[in-house]
Amino acid sequence: MIHFNIPPHVGGEEEYISQAIANRKICGDGEFTKRCSAWLEEQTGAKRALLTTSCTHALEMGALLCDIKPGDEVILPSYTFVSTANAFVLRGATCVFVDIRPDTMNIDETLIEAAITDRTRAIAPVHYAGVACEMDTIMDIANRHGLMVVEDAAQAITSTYKGKPAGTIGDFGCLSFHETKNISMGEGGALLVRDAKMAERAEIIREKGTNRSKFFRGEIDKYTWVDEGSSYLPSELNAAYLFAQLENANKIQASRLAAWDRYFANLSPLAEVGRIELPHVPEECTHNAHMFYLKAADLEERSALIAYLKARDISSVFHYIPLHSSPAGRALGRFSGEDRYTTRESERLLRLPLWYGIGEEQVDTVCEAIATFYQQS
Ligand SMILES: *Cc1c(COP(=O)(O)O)cnc(C)c1O
Repeated sequence: MIHFNIPPHVGGEEEYISQAIANRKICGDGEFTKRCSAWLEEQTGAKRALLTTSCTHALEMGALLCDIKPGDEVILPSYTFVSTANAFVLRGATCVFVDIRPDTMNIDETLIEAAITDRTRAIAPVHYAGVACEMDTIMDIANRHGLMVVEDAAQAITSTYKGKPAGTIGDFGCLSFHETKNISMGEGGALLVRDAKMAERAEIIREKGTNRSKFFRGEIDKYTWVDEGSSYLPSELNAAYLFAQLENANKIQASRLAAWDRYFANLSPLAEVGRIELPHVPEECTHNAHMFYLKAADLEERSALIAYLKARDISSVFHYIPLHSSPAGRALGRFSGEDRYTTRESERLLRLPLWYGIGEEQVDTVCEAIATFYQQS
């Protein structure tokens, strides 16, 4: 059986979890949380990196920090995970979905401006498969129209756009450490905050609307309720697992990139004769091998390929029923312009097995099965 995903484990996680228990500090913001935040700040250059209980919660913090109010509009792709939309919907916003580019599956930056109305407050680009959106264009539009930018960088840890880490270009960036992501803590995420003036409010929102973080740093002599907020900090046990992973980030990424490159090389002959399409990484971007996908001709061919692989004990998956055609998306959002690519491309895309430690033989087995499928069909 070749699994679609196996959660990353590098060794060292158990020791750090034991240390967290021995420290007699297992709630949030202990030593391991601090070490993870410091690692993220150093690696990304973000002014502040706050560990959260999920990327979903980091996105919710982003929406709170953008001061999204009922009636506001947020521009995002329809081809994304529900959390990108829910974060803003929970604040009363309407989702305005924009079509994607077929080459990267990211929001089509050239269509954003036409979706702006006098109610638009923010843009939420999603760096699909760890390949960054066309951020210069997006930031230029946001600056000219006075909009906030919340990057859904759930899949994009260590990816870059023109040398800048994904998640650090907009006002806020949201990372995920779910077990399906490159680097994990089971459930968890992080909010990257670009500017110092937003960092303090982010800390308060994360700590139930109190200034407790300042109190613990000795900057004030008692803490109190100062703003709206919730509880978004993960336990030290999760942070301890994460820190072992972050320390081994290079090892994890090298393994994934090697598998990604092997898929690409193995499947290129099929792409060259036009049977399938392979991912495109723009020159401005470096990616983190979060995902390897191919595109079949259409929905029917993709379904046949999934069944063919399944019969050979290979698990492959697709995802994201476009949000604008889902029951909640129809009620809580609208599509701006024409859906030229979102539905069509989402029906063709198939994700192949990829995890830290996947072997060359396993990648080759998957590719051989795909080649045989196309030979006989
Ligand atoms: C995984 C993912 C999320 C949600 O991450 P959680 O940490 O599970 O909340 C949000 N957006 C995208 C694009 C994702 O891939």
